[in-house]
Amino acid sequence: MTDYQAMEDQASMGILPKRDVVIVRGSGARLWDSAGKEYIDCIGGIGTANIGHCHPAVTKAVARQAERLVICPDTFYNDLRAELATALTRVAPEGLDRLFLCNSGTEAVEAALKFARVATGRTGVIAAQRGFHGRTFGALSATWNPKYRAPFEPLVPGFTHVKYNDAAAMEQSIGDGTAAVLLEVVQGEGGVRIGDGAYLRRVAALCRERGALFIVDEVQTGFGRTGALFACEHYDLRPDMLCLAKAMAGGLPVGATLCAETVRNVPAMSHGNTFGGSPVVCAAGLATLRVLEEGGLVENARENGAYFRDALAALDAPYVREIRGMGLIIGVEMKGRVTPILRGLMERGVMALPAGNTVLRFLPPLTISREEIDQVVEAVGAVLGSLEA
Ligand SMILES: *Cc1c(COP(=O)(O)O)cnc(C)c1O
Repeated sequence: MTDYQAMEDQASMGILPKRDVVIVRGSGARLWDSAGKEYIDCIGGIGTANIGHCHPAVTKAVARQAERLVICPDTFYNDLRAELATALTRVAPEGLDRLFLCNSGTEAVEAALKFARVATGRTGVIAAQRGFHGRTFGALSATWNPKYRAPFEPLVPGFTHVKYNDAAAMEQSIGDGTAAVLLEVVQGEGGVRIGDGAYLRRVAALCRERGALFIVDEVQTGFGRTGALFACEHYDLRPDMLCLAKAMAGGLPVGATLCAETVRNVPAMSHGNTFGGSPVVCAAGLATLRVLEEGGLVENARENGAYFRDALAALDAPYVREIRGMGLIIGVEMKGRVTPILRGLMERGVMALPAGNTVLRFLPPLTISREEIDQVVEAVGAVLGSLEA
């Protein structure tokens, strides 16, 4: 136990269980701990480090902007915010031409829920079983897992959860009181479950027919993760709102709610925040977008994601039940608990994360190379081999 571990244990709330390691440095798809041990990072800051840790373009943009202007409230115009808003609405799925900037995924969802109420005059929200949308009260009400919800009930009224990828269930649920349907394209925290394209398009059509708004949560799948800049592109989805965050600014805290013309009548002064769209974060966001557009990383996610899944599938591993994924969000469902596998991988210099109790999840930087993927898969094979022995 290092001094830093003792200090954190002493001074923090201790809500999340911690791994026995102090991480002090990152570069690309690598991390180093305080003892100098190197890891291949398939956690990627929980899917925030898509362009790699400490990408020089982001580091430079942040340093430069930090010397010029760090904070600028939303009641002023700002050069960097103007540029980021323009760039983001340019690359977003068609029709999403306005945005609201905040600081996290849960805030992006919270804004979408509030906007949906005022835009429709309705209060019902339909979300999916196994869906995850964040931990503030509105977003938590849309989140399904009872482990996150139960300690904090009662939550916001009006939320229902239906089976994912089940169009009939959605057909029965959307009614006159439904303000919005909120779904992920790939359920990340819920176990890397891939949305069906025909299902998602059907939900969008039902929303349009019945006067509800279709909100897509791409907090985890956005910015190249699935092999397209946004996962919506795979299925030609045009949601009324799109929630973004995690990988948007090279690992800095950020969130955005993109809105179509169906969402315009939000009353003046009715929503806002202190830090959203601050110049340093916008500079990081602009640099990140440029790297994603010019660096071939989106193609890398698509091609190396397929390579990664194929390599995992080629392992002779009876402990594996199913391999799911889209680009470089990959879930390996096991026949038992995933905790000992995560521990074994870390000992072998590989960081991965769980999605529930039985799914091993990989969210590496999109810069990860085939050599690094080979090392990860070899480690997975060795750990599974030792478990089965
Ligand atoms: C992580 C996540 C959130 C919440 O984002 P925070 O920044 O942790 O608040 C919301 N939706 C999805 C799909 C996520 O993966």
